[in-house]
Amino acid sequence: MKVAIDGPAAAGKSTVAKKVANQLSYVYIDTGAMYRALTLQALREGIDPNDEQGLSHLAKRVTISFKYQEHGQDVFLNDENVSQAVRQTDVTNHVSDVAKHKSVRDHMVAMQRELAEVANVVMDGRDIGTYVLPQADVKVFLIASVEERAERRHTENLQKGIESDLEELKRDIERRDQIDSEREMAPLIQADDAIEIDTTSLSIDDVTNQILSLIQQ
Ligand code: C5P
Repeated sequence: MKVAIDGPAAAGKSTVAKKVANQLSYVYIDTGAMYRALTLQALREGIDPNDEQGLSHLAKRVTISFKYQEHGQDVFLNDENVSQAVRQTDVTNHVSDVAKHKSVRDHMVAMQRELAEVANVVMDGRDIGTYVLPQADVKVFLIASVEERAERRHTENLQKGIESDLEELKRDIERRDQIDSEREMAPLIQADDAIEIDTTSLSIDDVTNQILSLIQQ
């Protein structure tokens, strides 16, 4: 069983995808974390997010992998656990520019398809239902108003002790959505056969249960 969960930034994809995967003992694959790990290394090495060739070489040089630990899933860059580091603002601000290049995506998509082959998976991202796994058994497209998405990020940040500006969060989310929707290669778009769920006024459990019932149909 392959489950694809796509949607714009901060629509709650990873929270819900993790819960669905846990409930069913499926493997969760966070494709955004893969683009983020590459972006982190590019920033460390001073590679410009617009330098497609540099990024493409970098993607071939580094190993990005997941480890499933008791507390959940961690993403590794070579042997380093970068699960926290990939959430830094600097990475968030540059990841959509890194992810727009065809050669970068070709490399990532090949890895994602390989990961999906081995098990029942729930994969979340922007292009899973349209491009990475077009034959997925269940495709979901999560949306929510930008105000709601910014509010959720704001609350999440507060829980982690991070102060953030709501208007700035809103602008960042909109900017990322725009780059993701306008890129040439596998843009953010709803697959024709995806079920759209507007999560604006739904709880995490409501959304999780809706997806579980789609899978169990
Ligand atoms: O999901 P997350 O916010 O962690 O993704 C970070 C960024 O990675 C997105 O804004 C998008 O630019 C890129 N991405 C992508 N394709 C995916 C997953 C993420 O382009 N399948």
